[in-house]
Amino acid sequence: MNTIRKRPPAAEAQLRVSEIFTSIQGEGVRAGYLCTFVRFQGCSVGCEWCDTKYTWDFFGGTPMTREEIYSRIETPNVVLTGGEPLQQPKAAMLAFVSGLKERGHFVQVETSGRFYAPWVAEVDWRTVSPKPPTYEIAERLRPLVDELKYVVDNTFTEDRVEPLPRCTVSLQPEGNKPEYVAKALEILRRHPEWRLSVQIHKFLGLA
Ligand code: SF4
Repeated sequence: MNTIRKRPPAAEAQLRVSEIFTSIQGEGVRAGYLCTFVRFQGCSVGCEWCDTKYTWDFFGGTPMTREEIYSRIETPNVVLTGGEPLQQPKAAMLAFVSGLKERGHFVQVETSGRFYAPWVAEVDWRTVSPKPPTYEIAERLRPLVDELKYVVDNTFTEDRVEPLPRCTVSLQPEGNKPEYVAKALEILRRHPEWRLSVQIHKFLGLA
């Protein structure tokens, strides 16, 4: 049964936020930077191994104005994550991102790649983690992608990787599980141009 509810139309004026916190970026090329994470509420992708299922419901979280979110940001680096940030209201996100840039922040977005919104061209770093079973990347998003990050699990195969121009490819073992680390290392023997991404914040017991 599909339990994902659609976004309420009245949400256009505000952004719906699941949580805001400061921690290190634990994944991908930008791992190690101290960042404020803005985790948006709402996602319709439905990944089986999603570790933030509490963000799926578009009616959950807290509606917030841009100013309310700005007041919670503690670091120069900001990560927009989810949920699926590209399913937030487009005009509100464009205004929010413009304000972040005016304030001098380095802005990274983490997205499944299923969706496109014009504001994504305004951020500094776009991390796309294509999701099974289709691993689809929106056509207009492709030229903008900085980093592709694939979760390696029991179903992942390297032929699902779609290298894009000027784009780093990372393989990330699901849940840091040893069997998936071994699988990723085996793939890297055949593709030394790709890299391993482990969730270092989980080793450190951080959010
Ligand atoms: S896209 Fe992200 S938030 Fe949405 S279900 Fe998949 S892992 Fe979870």
